Amino acid sequence: MLIETPPTFELASPMYREALIQYDSVAEYVDLDDNIRQRLRHPQRSMVVSFPFRRDDYSEVDTVYGYRVQHLHTMGPTKGGIRYAPDVNIGEVAALAMFMTWKCAIIGLPFGGAKGGVRIDPTTLTRPEKQRVTRRYTSEIIDFIGPHRDIPAPDMGTDAQTMAWIMDTYSQQKGYSVPAVVTGKPPELGGSVARREATGRGVMSLLPAAMAHLGLPLRDTRVVIHGFGNVGRFAAIAGVEMGCRVIAVSDVSGGIHDPAGLDIAKATAWVDEHGTLADYPDADHITNDELFALDCEVLVPAAIQGVLTGTNAPDVKAKVILEGANNPTTSEADAVFKENGIFIVPDVLANAGGVTVSYFEWVQDLQNYFWSENEIVARLREIMGRAFDEVLALSIREGFDMRTAALVKGIRRVGAAKAVRGIYP
Ligand code: NAD
Repeated sequence: MLIETPPTFELASPMYREALIQYDSVAEYVDLDDNIRQRLRHPQRSMVVSFPFRRDDYSEVDTVYGYRVQHLHTMGPTKGGIRYAPDVNIGEVAALAMFMTWKCAIIGLPFGGAKGGVRIDPTTLTRPEKQRVTRRYTSEIIDFIGPHRDIPAPDMGTDAQTMAWIMDTYSQQKGYSVPAVVTGKPPELGGSVARREATGRGVMSLLPAAMAHLGLPLRDTRVVIHGFGNVGRFAAIAGVEMGCRVIAVSDVSGGIHDPAGLDIAKATAWVDEHGTLADYPDADHITNDELFALDCEVLVPAAIQGVLTGTNAPDVKAKVILEGANNPTTSEADAVFKENGIFIVPDVLANAGGVTVSYFEWVQDLQNYFWSENEIVARLREIMGRAFDEVLALSIREGFDMRTAALVKGIRRVGAAKAVRGIYP
């Protein structure tokens, strides 16, 4: 038995510890070579950069930190989003890179996991400021990324425009256009249609199978969504399209609730105009804590990590939790949900629609041949549906909850690939 190497202090963060707790507890069930089990606890490459950033008014020059972590190079190039947030750190990015490895393996995509971050509050940035931060961060990590090396995508605080600036900066340095260096780009630059909607749509595409498994009807199902950004809003739209009643949504300003079902198109238009749900006129206003405790069948956490905790988990009344956000459930909350018989479709499976359509985008860019929206949506449904069925079958066959089953599936695939590649030199 190998002695476990603790994560180095650079990576020590609540989220990295959480990632290791999950990995260690699941690795127990996977017949992994001990050396491989140990190796997978550590990201392969991590980059920390700092750079100067000048505000528009020339008042000051801040020093900004940026990160990019590549967890695993065994399966192909690495893939994962870039987040802009005031508290992002290397440990959080490393944890998310590890989750990306499992996610890609669960879905069967030819990528290892990566993640990036810039420690800055994106809500304080003007458009030119955000552009400067993005271009400088890209220059700093330029030798670390590439279409056959590591392919970033949007995450919290970044969007299609951010990806366009990364693609342009990378292409300017290379001397020719390299659309496949990032995914989640605008369609004008080789971005895939339906990428923006993909994560939210993918999350909800698993609901019919989850309800059928539990013997519950889909029609009129009450859905509550925490977070009304990219993932939350498209999950809400997809929910309404499939005949569910979306009774509450929330964002950083708080939540809105209508037991008869919200007008999602109206709420979306309100946020587009006013920035947040605050002061939305046609529903009751509730706090985010109250939202978690609402009477409903389905809860979709789609905002940030660590929001379902040992404290609020006992109040959750939903029968199904579809994890749209990455890592929304702490291990304490997970234990409570297990105890209460709540069926969880874990993040590594539920929110994989984004990286799946990103994979489609990358393939299309490399081939310079673009698919129709119908083809993309159909292939997304097929891949997500198959992964869900396989994870559910494994969970029934081997007696695991869905999170453990998903991780077992992903870690087995990675372990097998590592074993046949062997050690260099
Ligand atoms: P986003 O920035 O578009 O939206 C985030 C939403 O969460 C906003 O409505 C914001 O107001 C809200 N929010 C932030 N802090 C909150 C808080 N404390 N309480 C309540 N609401 C809060 O981000 P996104 O792209 O929708 O990502 C959301 C989550 O989904 C993240 O965990 C992200 O890593 C994950 N994810 C995103 C994608 C994708 O394709 N965008 C793919 C996979 C996973």
